[in-house]
Amino acid sequence: MTMHSATLAIDETLRARRAAGEKVLHLGFGEAGLPVPAGVAAVLADAVRRNGYGPVAGSAEAREAAAGWFTRRGLPTGPEQVLFAPGSKALLFALVLALPGDVVLPRPSWVSYAAQSALAGKRTIGVPIPAGAGGVPDPERLEGALERARAEGAEPGVLVLTVPDNPTGTVARAEDVRAVCGIAERHGLAVVADEIYAELVHDADAARALPRAVDHLPERTVVTSGLSKSMALGGWRIGFARLPEGAWGERLRGELVGVASEIWSSLAAPMQAVAARVLEDPPEVLAHIAAARRLHGAVARAVHAEFAAAGAVCRAPEAGFYLYPDFEPVRERLAARGVRSGAELAAALLERYGVGVLAGAAFGDAAAGLRARVATSLLYGETEAERWAALRADAPAELPWVAASLGHLRDALAGLTRG
Ligand code: PMP
Ligand code: GLU
Repeated sequence: MTMHSATLAIDETLRARRAAGEKVLHLGFGEAGLPVPAGVAAVLADAVRRNGYGPVAGSAEAREAAAGWFTRRGLPTGPEQVLFAPGSKALLFALVLALPGDVVLPRPSWVSYAAQSALAGKRTIGVPIPAGAGGVPDPERLEGALERARAEGAEPGVLVLTVPDNPTGTVARAEDVRAVCGIAERHGLAVVADEIYAELVHDADAARALPRAVDHLPERTVVTSGLSKSMALGGWRIGFARLPEGAWGERLRGELVGVASEIWSSLAAPMQAVAARVLEDPPEVLAHIAAARRLHGAVARAVHAEFAAAGAVCRAPEAGFYLYPDFEPVRERLAARGVRSGAELAAALLERYGVGVLAGAAFGDAAAGLRARVATSLLYGETEAERWAALRADAPAELPWVAASLGHLRDALAGLTRG
């Protein structure tokens, strides 16, 4: 049986608890938690009467806009290389269906890659991430893992990279991206580069230097992205993919359009109008994303400090709105409280302290590990007014409602790890 995806399930659980009157700190879900800029809302309102299905790959105007968007980001792209869908999640699944072979994943990695690969009847080959940053398999271990997988009857065909990464909130090192692409090339793998967090690198210099698989393996790398994270439009379900130039890319595009035509037909026409506008990079949109990037960075750093103070080790946040703390250094203290696994850690935080996080096992990590994914993007406020204030604040972690949440977390972590 296919389970309710862990991210969406925890969101529903935590919201239901809140609705029932419980005080719950929601660190479970990667929803970007920001309001919609007025100009973008107006585009949707103006497009509400567009009720035709349109072409499966997306309207010419939306694909032109996406092609320009990639091109301005250093990746020359024509509109015929672009495919829209209701969320990049749908595109990732279509890719897993259309590309031959089993799926190689960094471990940990986002919950849905392995679940989608199982839905497609494929095996998953999980390879641990390097110590510094996630989103790529450790190049030192990838080749051996591929050989072992083949010896066990698997046929590795697709390598998924997440740069920047969910769940670790980090950006893979350029040399690791280059190395894993070299291995992918030698082993005939296709690369799916999930770049949905690419606009949300906190540091501007690091953002310009974002390492990209497509620079190393241009003919066999598919890039996926969308507006769920950068523009906080998750519920509008706007995703898109860039297929490589050349015969391989053209064939794959045909197969993806085939899958799309049989499952979702097209991205909702009003949403294509939104994509066409947002992907032209108008000043209001660029300013909104720049403010979001500052906010995500500031709050992620403040939450990181709480985990570090409680004795967890945690990679410093570099992009997006996630942290991946590891409570191994305080294992004995947790054991004294009956917590011996990631699942028990998440359960204790929720049941004893009203803090919702996801255990590392949801991301394919070892069950015995004391790791959890912490999403920080639902701390910005409950109301639109609070969220706008957070977006505009110089010191968002000091806003009363954000500070109160940080206090809730501090007390919970102190209670859980007290000696
Ligand atoms: N990839 C990653 C790494 C994600 O975290 C998400 C979050 N939903 C997605 C893809 C899918 O996003 P969407 O379907 O909203 O484009
Ligand atoms: N990607 C988000 C997360 O990891 C939520 C949405 C989803 O998983 O589809 O929490």
